[in-house]
Amino acid sequence: MIVVMRPGCRPKDVQHVVDLIQQMGLREHVSVGSDRTIIGAIGDKRHVDMTAIETAPMVDRVVPILAPYKMASREVEAHPSVISLGPHATVGGPQICLIAGPCSVEDETQLLTTAHAVREAGAVGLRGGAFKPRTNPYDFQGLGEAGLKLLAKAREQTGLAVVTEVMSIDHVDMVASYADVLQIGTRNMHNFNLLMAAGRTGKPILLKRGWSATLNEFLLAAEYIMNEGNRNVVLCERGIRTHERYVRNTLPLAIIPAVKRESHLPIVIDPSQGTGHAYMVPAMCKAAIAAGADGLLIEVHPDPEHALTDGAQSITPAVFEELVGELRGIAGAVGRGL
Ligand code: PEP
Ligand code: MN
Repeated sequence: MIVVMRPGCRPKDVQHVVDLIQQMGLREHVSVGSDRTIIGAIGDKRHVDMTAIETAPMVDRVVPILAPYKMASREVEAHPSVISLGPHATVGGPQICLIAGPCSVEDETQLLTTAHAVREAGAVGLRGGAFKPRTNPYDFQGLGEAGLKLLAKAREQTGLAVVTEVMSIDHVDMVASYADVLQIGTRNMHNFNLLMAAGRTGKPILLKRGWSATLNEFLLAAEYIMNEGNRNVVLCERGIRTHERYVRNTLPLAIIPAVKRESHLPIVIDPSQGTGHAYMVPAMCKAAIAAGADGLLIEVHPDPEHALTDGAQSITPAVFEELVGELRGIAGAVGRGL
């Protein structure tokens, strides 16, 4: 970090900042200019609270140089991480990773029909919530463990990697015993104890961005998981809350190049929560692949009109199949496979 002193600061103000820097276990580098004195603090200050320096007399501002996250950052790992989600599914490599399935697991027929259809069309992962975070407590909350059992059955029949949400620390072990990938939902991105508990399972984690979280906060949430010794974090953009009403959420695809610049972790896009409308899903999938996304998490339901959750944003297996054909061309154009 660099400490910029205010014009007219005295040698004793500079010395005070130098003392603080040294007390933090860092080294200083003082540079006295004609107008301004600048003090560089050298060393890893990620675990240092900068408040004391910021509030010291005659300090103008403190400018951080390194990102506050470490394991998630490009500074630590220059090459993109390729994460294995199961025997037939990886994300982050040249191949685009398609994860598809219903918002919620509803019953055996619904899940198995969807799983076989999306696998035939080219998906490598099956999504489906057994524990659903619902805004309204009277809405369908998911089948719980019965839903996890159905997901495991679908994996047995199709070989798809199962991605499902875990909402509470109490359920981490149970969900991990059925799932290949643990999804942390947007509402739980800031639930640091849950992030750590999920991280400790060693399973790959699909971490959704909080709908009001900054990119910085998103990557710090990933850092919580990685700090538990789990490097298998897949970032997922699912849209943020804005004043717009023509979409359920606003899907900021600019996060793809931003993540690529900041982090080695793969990023997948969820165009379903990201728009709230089935008719928008294909266009956003294409745009996401063109912009460099590593994968897509798409809601597919055999009968969206009667879906228990998120029917309006779910595409049918037929639309999914047609979409995958179109995505192949886009993936090829940007040097990826599908
Ligand atoms: C979902 O994937 O169905 C879901 C509830 O996601 P989010 O946490 O992004 O709302
Ligand atoms: Mn959903």
